[in-house]
Amino acid sequence: MSAFDVHAHRHALKQLRDTGETSLWENRKGIDCPVCAEPFVRLFTTRSPATRVPENDGSRFCLARDEGRIHLFRH
Ligand SMILES: [Zn+2]
Repeated sequence: MSAFDVHAHRHALKQLRDTGETSLWENRKGIDCPVCAEPFVRLFTTRSPATRVPENDGSRFCLARDEGRIHLFRH
């Protein structure tokens, strides 16, 4: 079971960046974070074993993990 399926929410997400191992998405339709159930602003997804988190304005974020992938939901 996946923590968050990007493809299931593809209609609500705009892809901002994709490196193959990491991708960055903008939440265009206010879909809820699967961790805290509040809408997130951006989603950063990585399959890399070590990833540098992009700079942000200090907003809180939630983490969810599924096989081989970590999702970082920024609020
Ligand atoms: Zn959250």
